[in-house]
Amino acid sequence: METGSAGSTVPSSLEVAAAGQGTEEPEKISHPIADQLFGYLRDVLYYPNRAQLDPASLPEDFREFGEGLVFFMEMLNETRALATALARGDLSCPLPKPDNELASNLKSLHATLKHLTWQTRQVANGDYKQRIRFMGDFADAFNQMVIQLKERQDALLGEIETIQKQRRDLERSNNLFEIITDRLSEWIVVFDRNTGERLFTNHPVGNFLTNTSLESRLYDVLLGHTQQKEESDVEKSMVFSLGDDEVIQWFSATFYPLHWYGYDAMAAVLSDITASKAEIDKLEGVAYRDALTGKYNRHYGMNLFNEWIGQRRHFVVCFIDIDKLKYVNDVLGHAEGDRYILQVAKLLEAFSENACLCRLGGDEFMILAADIDQKAAEDCLEALRDGLVAEELTTQDGTSYRGSFSYGIVEVATDNALPSSEILSQADERMYVYKKAHRMERRDTPA
Ligand code: GH3
Ligand code: MG
Repeated sequence: METGSAGSTVPSSLEVAAAGQGTEEPEKISHPIADQLFGYLRDVLYYPNRAQLDPASLPEDFREFGEGLVFFMEMLNETRALATALARGDLSCPLPKPDNELASNLKSLHATLKHLTWQTRQVANGDYKQRIRFMGDFADAFNQMVIQLKERQDALLGEIETIQKQRRDLERSNNLFEIITDRLSEWIVVFDRNTGERLFTNHPVGNFLTNTSLESRLYDVLLGHTQQKEESDVEKSMVFSLGDDEVIQWFSATFYPLHWYGYDAMAAVLSDITASKAEIDKLEGVAYRDALTGKYNRHYGMNLFNEWIGQRRHFVVCFIDIDKLKYVNDVLGHAEGDRYILQVAKLLEAFSENACLCRLGGDEFMILAADIDQKAAEDCLEALRDGLVAEELTTQDGTSYRGSFSYGIVEVATDNALPSSEILSQADERMYVYKKAHRMERRDTPA
């Protein structure tokens, strides 16, 4: 016995089991040609490199058989070479001859694998229409894989499209934001409320401040307004000025809390209101000031009066009427009458710097003073009046006369329910009572 390959036993001669004698020893038949052919067959199977048979060397009767065996060996070798190449995944190996029937299935497997390789490349290039209609379970798995790849690609494409749209939208809004903030004359600054770090400005502060040395003071104002305060306690807007006596810049600032990329930030939008402030001051002068005395007018005074009532404040209302203005007008001239009004207005300024003094009209004035009681107001006005009475007023041509005024005071309590007009009438009535009581004294008006 000769061993051919692992696990198999190569017979050295033909073994023929005697028919119907399965359990008995086979009878051995030995023939030199049969042995040669058998040896050739064995070599073809197990030692193909040394397998050699020259059919011409065989006796006539075996020659055709020998040629058939050689042909068989060639087909087998071709088939074996193809099988080995396929097992290695080599699809570029030479193919068996067309008449090699032994390799026909392997050839068709080779063709299938080549087509499958081409299909796989197509799928890799994004052709998800590829399907395999053969190869059973493998085909199902492959087709399923292609369907899933297609679904995932579609989902990814959808996501990419959404992201690209979002990016485009973001770019557009960003661009719009930049254009708008660039063109804004307002100065936008975003800063960290805790550290003061500047996170964004729409343009350099130098474009905004007339005096760049004020930059740190400007920051101090903004930080001071917002730092160490609860967000809800930060006033939404403020008006402030920077500068010195020579050049003052006025600003209005509006604040917007921002929670931005982990920052406890604040956005401040600042406007330079220097020009409009001057304009407002001028207009206020016209709207709220009395042209002759420069004091507040009736409109302003009554607004404040109503505001204080609405705020349930405790305050006093003083109604003041100049004594004997008609006399001064008639005797000393209207211009002197004006000067008389101005003198009284100036005198009443001394009532209190926190009080609001307004000219109601003609020779009538009103003082609104908070956190003072009736008695204190009375003492104060009485003292002022005494001063006026004691003073000798002189006209431009040297004529002397004495001035005086009468007053009535009403104290407004926090639980007041009367309207301002009613309270003012009461003060007027009290003034009239006072005036009547002091009429004798007024007879001496001309000095
Ligand atoms: P009484 O002592 O009772 O207060 O009398 P009076 O002379 O002060 O006169 P009254 O208060 O009744 O009236 C105020 C007068 O003041 C009437 C008006 O001729 C005059 N008057 C009103 N407005 C002006 C003004 O702007 N300039 C001048 N010079 N006189 C005015
Ligand atoms: Mg009067």
